Amino acid sequence: MTRSFDTTPRVWIGCLQCYNEGNLVGDWHNATDADEITTSQLHGRAIDPGTHEELWCLDHENLPITAECSPRDAAELARTLEDVPERERPALNAWVLSGDYIEDGDGLPSISDFEERYCGEWSSFREYAEQLVEDSGLLADVPEEVARYFDWEAWTRDLIYDYAVMDDGSHGAYVFRSL
Ligand SMILES: [Zn+2]
Repeated sequence: MTRSFDTTPRVWIGCLQCYNEGNLVGDWHNATDADEITTSQLHGRAIDPGTHEELWCLDHENLPITAECSPRDAAELARTLEDVPERERPALNAWVLSGDYIEDGDGLPSISDFEERYCGEWSSFREYAEQLVEDSGLLADVPEEVARYFDWEAWTRDLIYDYAVMDDGSHGAYVFRSL
């Protein structure tokens, strides 16, 4: 399945001091640059040292997090996401958001584990299972009259124990191999 989508991770970085004073001062930035935004840039004027120092990501999009975070954490996570091809990024986000993912030594999603487990986006797990049978040649040498009675339901039901299947948000599924 192909879709066009915007996968650029963005964060809305705001000033906590202004926020606490009741002013929403901040803007959207590409998350990969989040840790390079200075407080003067954010306010659009020179800021006295020691004031308005704490910047915080108060909102985000295309980042696999559910809470606010520091600009530094957002930038590190966004740069990690860039290590996979753009078309795979929504799947990577779903993998991380599921909570059932592998972290590397820095607490970031392990891209090598993602690549090892990710089996693609399918209209359903059944579609993946059927393709697997075809690719593996499981029924290749079986006469068609016999193959017709292959128990797809049972095959798919047993196979799914070795996989994690996640909703792709558009009536399809991301399939991950459980190792
Ligand atoms: Zn401020």
